[in-house]
Amino acid sequence: MGVTALMQTIGFVGLGTMGLPMAKNILKSHQQLVAYDVNIERLRMLQNEFEEVQVASSLSEVASRSDVVITMLPTPQIVSKVVSGEDGILNAMSHGSVWIDMSTIAPLVTQELSRQAREHGIRPVDAPVGRTSKHAETGTLVVMAGGEEAVVEEVRPLLHTMAEHIFYCGLSGMGQSMKVVNNLLAAVILAADAEALVLGVKSGLNLKTMLNIFKKTGAYNAYLDTGLKEKAFQRDFTPGFMVALAEKDVGLASGMAEHLKVPLFYGSLVRQQLTTLVAQGKGEEDISALVTLLEQITDVLISTN
Ligand code: NAD
Repeated sequence: MGVTALMQTIGFVGLGTMGLPMAKNILKSHQQLVAYDVNIERLRMLQNEFEEVQVASSLSEVASRSDVVITMLPTPQIVSKVVSGEDGILNAMSHGSVWIDMSTIAPLVTQELSRQAREHGIRPVDAPVGRTSKHAETGTLVVMAGGEEAVVEEVRPLLHTMAEHIFYCGLSGMGQSMKVVNNLLAAVILAADAEALVLGVKSGLNLKTMLNIFKKTGAYNAYLDTGLKEKAFQRDFTPGFMVALAEKDVGLASGMAEHLKVPLFYGSLVRQQLTTLVAQGKGEEDISALVTLLEQITDVLISTN
């Protein structure tokens, strides 16, 4: 099955920060790829490097020419329009083909779109990704997959051209639920790190001393060694993972929690912090810019420089 899956024509919709390097990795695995993006410049960027890439001029064209269509788009609204709108891919994909959504969207939207896909005889997989655009370039993303397990297994070789790890999470929407829960936890941990570090430095503690001690206690978390060490501690706030995307993801968690009647005490606070950063014009900075909120209030600077 793996070899068959790798002989198919893959449609790719959305060649953004993540989609472009992901599409490149599919092409590097010698698969046929038909690409589409509303931004023609993104299509040119792919064509410049891979002359064998086929370019579609509409969603229905990419859909009708592909055995598997991957969508990698910014928001649930855009995914819904691209997938189930009048000119969307579901109306043009052939019976038995596979739609893989790798965007991060609301699980409830995924469940509804997947239901519509099945009505069209199309097999849906939700496969949102963890990690950053750097990992998209190196083909080392983490995929959290939902849908019929047999279909996920069928497309596993294709997903492996983009991802190092592929985890099956359950039926349609469960990949998205996992992704949203994961990003909620990541944001809460970072915000907690920022609060503790600012208090420590304000009290006169040395940042390196604190970091050495956190490593030996239950306070340790990986962000102290990666996300913060490589970014905020160097005063480098280039993304990484953008504040605006984190705000979107924690917003998705809020929607999910509201639907399931689960209170989000920490998530609500972090969401307000991220919204504050966006309002300050820091939406395109790295999520580790969370430290700057408390730094400004307390006149403290967290830096290893
Ligand atoms: P992006 O905004 O950089 O790219 C989106 C692309 O979709 C753009 O090229 C845009 O022109 C295209 N597009 C928009 N509307 C379209 C339409 N109607 N038809 C066709 N193309 C259209 O976004 P990104 O950073 O690549 O993120 C994509 C998804 O992956 C998001 O859901 C995001 O939350 C998720 N994600 C991003 C990261 C990251 O670090 N950037 C990490 C993990 C997951």
